Amino acid sequence: MQVPERSALTGFSDSGLDRLASARDDEAAFERLFADSASSAVVLCRDLAIVRRTSAGLRAFFPKNLWEGLGPAEETVLLGRSGAGATFGLALPADALEDPPPGDVLDHLPLKGRPDCVAMNVRSLALGGLVTREEIGLLGQAKSLLGWHARHRFCSVCGAGSRIASAGWRRACASCGAAHFPRTDPVVIMLVVAGERCLLGRQPRFPKGMYSALAGFLEPGETIENAVRREILEESGVKVGAVAYHASQPWPFPSSLMIGCIAQATSEAVTIDKTELEDCRWFDRSELAAMFAGDHPSGFTAPQPIAIAHLLMRDWLEGRTLAP
Ligand SMILES: [Zn+2]
Repeated sequence: MQVPERSALTGFSDSGLDRLASARDDEAAFERLFADSASSAVVLCRDLAIVRRTSAGLRAFFPKNLWEGLGPAEETVLLGRSGAGATFGLALPADALEDPPPGDVLDHLPLKGRPDCVAMNVRSLALGGLVTREEIGLLGQAKSLLGWHARHRFCSVCGAGSRIASAGWRRACASCGAAHFPRTDPVVIMLVVAGERCLLGRQPRFPKGMYSALAGFLEPGETIENAVRREILEESGVKVGAVAYHASQPWPFPSSLMIGCIAQATSEAVTIDKTELEDCRWFDRSELAAMFAGDHPSGFTAPQPIAIAHLLMRDWLEGRTLAP
């Protein structure tokens, strides 16, 4: 029996596209795909997703005939192919959107001249389950890639302006010849376990009562296992021995890969790093079950299913994790 791959269950998981890498440096193939009436796109502007209001709810997927009405894109990247045609990621120029009222959050912005569309925060769309899983995967891929282009206009070797190349999967510097490739920043996120208990913490910015697995950026020259041990020791004072990989999740805020692990504690005393965490403590299985059921006596809750922390916690609770 085939064991389901746990990463496939996470939000923003790769939607299984054929990424069409062979077409990236073939200009004629790219133009054919782009002109094809079966092609489609997801569209972003100022890092927000453009969604259409339809009778069946919001849609982030634009068939060719509908995206053409949005006006010219500032950047175009080839995401891949999942059905009949190729799917592109388009970035509209910033002035395509109405400005928000001063001090307002950047969400729900009207698209000029298109009352049937609205620009929404990708996190709100994902957390609210407002578009399909496939659309969330495509939006995540497009947001990471287009956001990288927006933040890397200049060559990091010589400082000259660089240009988009390889259908969006490279930037080229005409001045010094350097090639730059889109980056993904690895983050370790780990459920530390000790027998029947697991270690959870909360950051001040979390929704009230929510506890989650601890996480942190992997540093240059560090293995995944050592990053897990360092982060846990820094944030909680708990020492960790064996570490086992469980699942991963692309997290396009702006361009991370969450590497989910189960880690075995070798000490249990908790010393909280108050610069990172508001609280951190051990939870037993019955508490975790109550958090998922929504009836924890202290009102504590688990992260939403879109987050890999939800999968790590639920898989451990239900016995689907390998012992590290
Ligand atoms: Zn250069």
